[in-house]
Amino acid sequence: MRIADAIVSVVVAPRCAACEAPLEQPTRGPVCPTCWESILPLTPPLCDRCGDPLPTWRAISVPLARCPRCRRAPRVIDRARAIGAYDGALRAIVHAMKYERRRSLARPLADLMRARGADMLDAASCTVPVPLHSSRLRERGFNQASDLARRLGLPSIAALKRIRATATQTALPAAQRHRNVRDAFALTRHGRAIDGATVVLVDDVSTTGATLEACARVLKRAGAIEVRALTAARVVGGKCDRSDSRS
Ligand SMILES: [Zn+2]
Ligand SMILES: [Zn+2]
Repeated sequence: MRIADAIVSVVVAPRCAACEAPLEQPTRGPVCPTCWESILPLTPPLCDRCGDPLPTWRAISVPLARCPRCRRAPRVIDRARAIGAYDGALRAIVHAMKYERRRSLARPLADLMRARGADMLDAASCTVPVPLHSSRLRERGFNQASDLARRLGLPSIAALKRIRATATQTALPAAQRHRNVRDAFALTRHGRAIDGATVVLVDDVSTTGATLEACARVLKRAGAIEVRALTAARVVGGKCDRSDSRS
């Protein structure tokens, strides 16, 4: 392995897909160990529903700890978790996977999702990836959510399809996003498997949660007992700039 690394680093001089430092062990993947190690978990206490960090006092005073957003608007998703905040190295890694087509990053990301989202996967029946619209899928050639969902150690069922392109979503404020994606999803012919299941919805990034909620609504209508969400990253507080909210 050391010889292979030496040859690869001399011949192609690859750089870390996240921080662009030269890779000392390029055969270990396109992201350097420093970047992987810098991805911190969200610090508990977390909102019981959406996974946002809570101020410490709230977890002590409220038995079922929920963030202000989740208390304001009831959610269909029962529980949600992510590896960490959509920031720094994690954000760069998700970008590299999605927009620079570094699909090999799905495996180490999924490993981290399994490690930090173990309670989401525990006793669940299957994973369901958030689908891309067929035109987006054609353009990109792969769905990053499916790449992640397949590697989480549970059967992965393509139970959902996106029946409406929601490209304009990115320019909308949170409230309108919920309206915009409301009827964007439908069951596929694999949807029957969802009846009576505990489902883990999988996506790369959760922003406002509007997409995950819209998916969860379809799954619950199809008979899912519980819908959990596990994403690689989470935009804490539901705010991010437009360039990051493309699916
Ligand atoms: Zn790096
Ligand atoms: Zn919440």
